[in-house]
Amino acid sequence: MVQESSGIILKSIPFSESSIISRVFTPDFGKISLIARGAKKSKSGSSAMLEPMNIVEFQMNFNESKDLQVMRDISIQHNLSTIRTNIKKMATGLVIVEILDKTSHQLDPSPILYRLVKSSISQLNSLDVSEKTLYIFFLIQFSKYSGFNPISENCHNCKRLLSSAFYNMKNGLLACKNCRSIDSIFLDCDVFLLIKEVSKTNIKNLNDILIMQNMLQIIEKYLLRFMEFHLHGMHNIKSLSFLNSVLIK
Ligand SMILES: [Zn+2]
Repeated sequence: MVQESSGIILKSIPFSESSIISRVFTPDFGKISLIARGAKKSKSGSSAMLEPMNIVEFQMNFNESKDLQVMRDISIQHNLSTIRTNIKKMATGLVIVEILDKTSHQLDPSPILYRLVKSSISQLNSLDVSEKTLYIFFLIQFSKYSGFNPISENCHNCKRLLSSAFYNMKNGLLACKNCRSIDSIFLDCDVFLLIKEVSKTNIKNLNDILIMQNMLQIIEKYLLRFMEFHLHGMHNIKSLSFLNSVLIK
């Protein structure tokens, strides 16, 4: 059956003489693999449209019983020229799509994660956005929408209200000073408040929040450890080392 869909390109690899196989995250089907026959030799530029991060519209011959769908027409929904010419934006965007790719399963749709990734990429493409704040915002929301909120108001053990917190890497939970374990990540009051503030802010207003470099490092470390603990696939995000070299360190 011919289906029309929008989608976010996660990864593309050349296949045979002239074709490209792409993994695409769609709102209605979740992650699917598509073969674009003849794309490498196409004069309409479809190989450039299959670059990771691109937000596209396409037609396909969809058959749920098959692992590989056949792509027909494709067009770009959103031009990402600002991201493509800025190394920090590129690095941030590649991590965003790789996290979606590695933590999602074929044919398991999540419209809310689709909207989050799409709006994060669109926002990243605007000139005046802080990549650091957007990146932290994305990690918090992605984790939350995947079912694991990295912010809790109370200590997991004694239920005391938290103003600062200790992240226990053995159980993936936040504790107070009295209930902390030895190998915790410490989130002081300022860091803890900042994480909460970012999580409550609309994606369009993220520039109101400034994240200092030392805080960025601890927040990123906490969120990545938290997500690695709770989300399958998070331990293997290869583009993080590129992002670290241009944004974090
Ligand atoms: Zn406690």
